[in-house]
Amino acid sequence: MAKLELRELGNTGLKLSCVGFGASPLGNVFGTVSEEEANASVREAFRLGINFFDTSPYYGGTLSEKVLGKALKALGVPRDNYIVSTKCGRYAEGFDFSADRVTKSIDESLARLQLDYVDVLQCHDIEFGSLDQVVNETIPALQKLKEAGKIRFIGITGLPLAVFTYVLDRVPPGAVDVILSYCHHSINDSTLEDLLPYLKSKGVGVISASPLAMGLLTESGPPHWHPASPELKSACQAAAAYCKEKGKNISKLAMQYSLSNKDVSSVLVGMNSVRQVEENVAAAMELATAGKDEETLLEVESILKPVKNQTWPSGIQQS
Ligand code: NAD
Repeated sequence: MAKLELRELGNTGLKLSCVGFGASPLGNVFGTVSEEEANASVREAFRLGINFFDTSPYYGGTLSEKVLGKALKALGVPRDNYIVSTKCGRYAEGFDFSADRVTKSIDESLARLQLDYVDVLQCHDIEFGSLDQVVNETIPALQKLKEAGKIRFIGITGLPLAVFTYVLDRVPPGAVDVILSYCHHSINDSTLEDLLPYLKSKGVGVISASPLAMGLLTESGPPHWHPASPELKSACQAAAAYCKEKGKNISKLAMQYSLSNKDVSSVLVGMNSVRQVEENVAAAMELATAGKDEETLLEVESILKPVKNQTWPSGIQQS
C-alpha cells in the first residue's frame, strides 16, 4: 500500500505526515463525538499513516486533550511513532501567557494526555495577548520546559499573519521552531503563501490548519460560531452546492489545494469520524498519483473570487 507522504518540519528533524489530525473536534467543538468514534478515528488515522496529532487545553475545555491522550494510549505503539502538539496560554477561562501559567499548563496537559513530553508546545492565539510578553516572557519560559525535556519544540499560533513576523523578528534565531497558521491557506484565502519565503529564511517549520476553513468548505457548512461574514459564508455555500451538483466534493478539492504546497509541512484537518479520516487521506493519496482536479478548482475559485482573502478580526489592539 502506498504511504502517506512525510514532510520535514523546518529545522526540527521531525517528519510529519502531510495530513495532520486536528483534534479540536474531539473536544466537541463541531458537535458531539462519542469516545468510541474518537478512538476509532485516531486509530484509523494512525493506521493510514497519519503520525501528527494536534490539540489544546482550550478545545472543549480540556476534553480534547483527555480524549486524544486516551486514544493514543490505546494504540499501544511506542511513543516515538507519533508526534503530538498541544498549546498553552488560551483556556476556557481566558488568556494567560505568563511564565507561571504556561509552566503549570504543560504539566496539566501532560497529565491529561498521559504523556511524558509533547513534541511541540505552541503559544495559542497570541494576538489575544501582549506580543511583547510572548517574546520576553512566554518563549523564554518555554525554553526552560525544553531544557527540562517536557517539550521538544516551541511554536506560536494565531490568525493575523502579522503576529508571526512581529515575534520572529524579535526572538533569538532558533527560539521559535514552528508556526501554526489557520484559515490562510485554503481555496478562499491563500495569504499564507506570501509569508512562506520569510518563514523558510528563518528556518521555521510551517503547519497550516483548517484547510476546510473551519467548515466553510464542506457540504454541511460551518458551525454556528463561525466568525466569517454572511457574504463569505454564502459564497462558500454556493461553491459547495456547485461542486455537489457536478458530482464533486468541495472538501476533497480543498484538502488537495492545501496539500499542494510542500513548503507547508502538514495540513491539519479537524476530524471526528472514521469516514472523514478515510476521505482526507484518500484525497492526499489521489493528489500524489493523479494531481488535483484543476478544472473544478478554477470554477470554484471563480465563485469565490468576490470574497478571496476575506478574513475576520481576531485579537486585541496591540500597544
Ligand atoms: P477544518 O478546516 O479542518 O474543518 C473541520 C471541520 O470539517 C469539522 O467539522 C470536521 O468534522 C469537518 N471535516 C473534516 N473532514 C471532512 C471531510 N472529508 N468532509 C466533510 N467535512 C469534513 O478546521 P479545524 O478543525 O478548525 O482545523 C483543524 C485543526 O487545526 C484543529 O482541529 C486544530 O487542531 C488546529 N487549529 C489550530 C488553531 C490555532 O492554533 N489557533 C486554529 C484552528 C485550527
